[in-house]
Amino acid sequence: MPVNGLAPYDDSNIFARILRGEIPCKKVFENDFALAFHDINPQAPVHVLVIPKGRYVSFADFSSKASETEQAGFLRAVGQVARQLGLDEPGYRIISNMGPHSHQEVPHLHVHILAGKKLGALIVGGTEPPP
Ligand code: AMP
Repeated sequence: MPVNGLAPYDDSNIFARILRGEIPCKKVFENDFALAFHDINPQAPVHVLVIPKGRYVSFADFSSKASETEQAGFLRAVGQVARQLGLDEPGYRIISNMGPHSHQEVPHLHVHILAGKKLGALIVGGTEPPP
């Protein structure tokens, strides 16, 4: 059964493999709820991904199924990573792509933290969905 338009959680996805230590990452933060590491293909001078430790396909999956403790822990971790990286001033952008129209590529929830320069418009490009 699809979960919010995505396939069910796949334990072989790349972020699951990073969580299991099977693939290396450039880690910046870890606690009981989250792991944060540098994006392999940075789109800004700072581009860090924050992922929950639990098996959640997307933001929709996480926000509907994760416990209050997991949700609070993950949200706090995102803020803590940004603070640790010294990004609160002059600011940063957080994005989480959810589903095919958003261009989500990895089916494990992740929040992008983008910073380090004046970021452009929120939405650039894209294609019209089929009718
Ligand atoms: P999204 O399109 O929102 O699913 O973003 C997936 C992100 O994961 C992209 O920005 C990729 O560059 C990044 N990515 C894919 N594989 C890795 C990896 N092994 N280590 C770090 N980042 C990765």
